Amino acid sequence: MVLQLKNYEKELFICAKCGYCRDSCAIWRVNGFDTVSPRGKILLLKYFIEQKKEFPPELIENWYLCCTCGKCAEICPLEIDFPELIRTYRIEFAKNKKNIYNALKNCA
Ligand code: SF4
Ligand code: SF4
Repeated sequence: MVLQLKNYEKELFICAKCGYCRDSCAIWRVNGFDTVSPRGKILLLKYFIEQKKEFPPELIENWYLCCTCGKCAEICPLEIDFPELIRTYRIEFAKNKKNIYNALKNCA
């Protein structure tokens, strides 16, 4: 599935890659992979959108590893509302029902 920028171009392009969000994320502290951190998700999403490439199903699963607690947004110096990005792109991914099934199957 090739994603469009929709209304979140600004958020994806202003991210300073500082990583404060990552350090505040309980999911990242347990998982340990940068691809699961808010910063990692933003950078990967931006890459695939810019390249107009299909977003890999194995990366979609990471978007379900977030409880939308908002800790990352509270600490982000650029006020990126990451939980809103999560909600928006979960809806995008859900347009292909196969994506939901795979993500939840592997999280269970
Ligand atoms: S805290 Fe904000 S600016 Fe820094 S990496 Fe995270 S999302 Fe990007
Ligand atoms: S909203 Fe998601 S990414 Fe942000 S700190 Fe909470 S669990 Fe981590």
